[in-house]
Amino acid sequence: SEHGRAPASQAGARPPFDVNAVRRDFPILQERLSGKSSGKQLVWFDNAATTHKPQAVIDRLAYFYAHENSNIHRAAHELAARATDAYEGARDKVKRFIGASSSDEIIFVRGATEAINLVAKTWGAQNVGEGDEIIVSNLEHHANIVPWQQLAAAKGAKLRVIPVDDTGQILLDEYRKLLNDKTRIVAVTQVSNALGTVTPIKDIVALAHSVGAKALVDGAQSVSHMRVNVQQLDADFFVFSGHKIFGPTGIGVVYGKRDILENMPPWQGGGNMIADVTFERTIYQPPPNRFEAGTGNIADAVGLGAALDYVDRIGIENIGSYEHDLLAYATQGLLTIPGIRLIGTAAEKASVASFVLKGFTTQEVGEALNREGIAVRTGHHCAQPILRRFGVEQTVRPSLAFYNTCEEVDRMVQVVYRLATARR
Ligand code: PLP
Repeated sequence: SEHGRAPASQAGARPPFDVNAVRRDFPILQERLSGKSSGKQLVWFDNAATTHKPQAVIDRLAYFYAHENSNIHRAAHELAARATDAYEGARDKVKRFIGASSSDEIIFVRGATEAINLVAKTWGAQNVGEGDEIIVSNLEHHANIVPWQQLAAAKGAKLRVIPVDDTGQILLDEYRKLLNDKTRIVAVTQVSNALGTVTPIKDIVALAHSVGAKALVDGAQSVSHMRVNVQQLDADFFVFSGHKIFGPTGIGVVYGKRDILENMPPWQGGGNMIADVTFERTIYQPPPNRFEAGTGNIADAVGLGAALDYVDRIGIENIGSYEHDLLAYATQGLLTIPGIRLIGTAAEKASVASFVLKGFTTQEVGEALNREGIAVRTGHHCAQPILRRFGVEQTVRPSLAFYNTCEEVDRMVQVVYRLATARR
């Protein structure tokens, strides 16, 4: 390439699957852009914000509405049975995908944000009291900070924060010092959306358990990049969003251990979550229905099931190993650019290469990339505390998925390289 790097074909990011076939499965990747990026083919490097949908998911949604559409659980007619089978089938796919022991441990919600709010507002309200402590890490997305902050304020509890080192990795020794018999729950991400850090989540969960605390794992950025097994992690709660794993928006998951869910009070009240209602009292359904009040996002749950099937067909280990090589290739390319500073350099990372460029705002870098059809996120990524830990308010954040290629990385690096050297 123009600044002396090996061409993509020699650089080692060889997918253990047919990446061109995969790309053909995603119609939007064929999209030509208009406006400022006139005529350019889309390069999607904003996968940490949301991922694109394979035709199989789009078709599954259309099939649901064309052949199965009904409300679930409460009618005797054929379409109700079809819709219920499809919805419960999706719950079963989620159960298998994350290694839960029962599909009763899978609650459908809107996304990771609603998932964490559900846990904070039900388990948290019941189990966190005055003087108790809640631990999060410096890496967390606002969705895994604000609900805990609200709970702490309501209960007179204290929010404590695990610091990170200069690479953006969690400091386990500092974490150990925060744990004590007042700790009720530890809520930590498995992969940082802002830096890409893969945290030592298994150790974090085990240490929480060593003081009798529960552990919630934010899997919003991990499930699409690595094999997750909630039983191996021994997570009490695990949450993720469908739209970040090639599924529809508006659907996400709370996994909770069965005995914990059984003892948790409901959150929202209404239809579907009840066994019997009189004006004097209500008897609730067991989990998961207890936590699914009202008509849920039936079609999109089914779409999420199709997305997980798609990922299974490619193989999550294949996806993870290809993305690992692609991220290494992107990192190496970005580091050739004068004035670049990578934010987040932990030894173990997934998908994300956050950076700032000396002399340019993140907005300017994002616009230069957009003119070439390359979509990256610029901003604070809903994770202001961790960016401030590194002395910045914003970064440029390319984030990769298994449908991305070395050629696309080359295009991105070239644009930023040209921008960086033009004024010099
Ligand atoms: N947690 C992490 C680590 C995330 O990256 C995100 C989304 O960016 C969320 C939680 C919230 O997910 P959602 O906006 O889909 O509810």
